[in-house]
Amino acid sequence: MKEVIVIICCDTEPDQPQYGGLDYNVHFGKHTWKGIKEGIPKAKEVANYIEDAEGHNAKITWFLRSDDQIKELYGDPAWMVRNFMGIWKELGSQGDEIGWHPHLWRWNESIKSWYPELEDRIWIENCMEEGYNRFPEEFKLTSSRMCWNFHSNITMNKVDELGLKVDISAMPGQKSIKPVNDSPDSLYYDWEITKEPPYFPSQSDYRREADINERSLDILEIPLTNFEISLSWQIKRILKRFLRPGRGYPLGKRNPAKIDDNPDFFRSCAIRKFFESKENNCRTFLVSYFHADELPGKDSLASTYFERNLKYISEASRNYGVPFRFLTAREAAGEVIK
Ligand SMILES: [Zn+2]
Repeated sequence: MKEVIVIICCDTEPDQPQYGGLDYNVHFGKHTWKGIKEGIPKAKEVANYIEDAEGHNAKITWFLRSDDQIKELYGDPAWMVRNFMGIWKELGSQGDEIGWHPHLWRWNESIKSWYPELEDRIWIENCMEEGYNRFPEEFKLTSSRMCWNFHSNITMNKVDELGLKVDISAMPGQKSIKPVNDSPDSLYYDWEITKEPPYFPSQSDYRREADINERSLDILEIPLTNFEISLSWQIKRILKRFLRPGRGYPLGKRNPAKIDDNPDFFRSCAIRKFFESKENNCRTFLVSYFHADELPGKDSLASTYFERNLKYISEASRNYGVPFRFLTAREAAGEVIK
């Protein structure tokens, strides 16, 4: 039977500066948590408006921070998990999943700012080991989503070694150029050769399946759904590259399809390829994400888009006569492996 599996991920973390959170140039301030206190109830309200082919409401996999930055500020990498424990247990009891969202924020005293540490192997491995080991055991972590949709051989080998079974970070065909100097925006990623279907990464190249003579990792990578951006968006992207030299920039014409963002993808005919296939027995994955702090506010555009985009998925399912099911990351991996 043809079907579409819909996976919705939430990066659940302190409020980002653009939503009233702590600025990246403050070393020891206290974070704000509007995303958790108000964003999560809002997301659940939207998720409960819709039903899949089995009558389930939209399931969400909540990826929680546990890492070095949280430890530096609160004395415990998993402070955020412990402090809001009641919320995670309640979400788990409703069929959602609790996963892990390790960030690689490191303080740089010379620029007086937090910046993404994407290269120092020893520091990265230590940050991830501590973040994972201190995560409360009752959640039996199986799923991860990396900070900034980033991975490298260091981080992919580490999530595998720690025993995680599924990761959702890849952005097939996408790559960005590395900024010249460290700053809060000095991100980069390379998923240029990655294909769309889920895969078990090669130990020596996280972006693809293992070749015959290579070792394959045991963690399943499920890539995010991405779409071709509009012409005006492409022009803006190219302009930025020339107006802000040295800042780093994404290459190519694609972007991940965020469930609470402008519905360029969800309302367009691009969604069709997920529901239309020549094969009879085929399953496609529609994988999307959002941040909890994007939703609060009475007139939040993000929550309007979230609701509309879920409706577009349901409409596409009806129009093309192909059922869809909401699964958590763990459930989806279980079905792929079976
Ligand atoms: Zn994040």
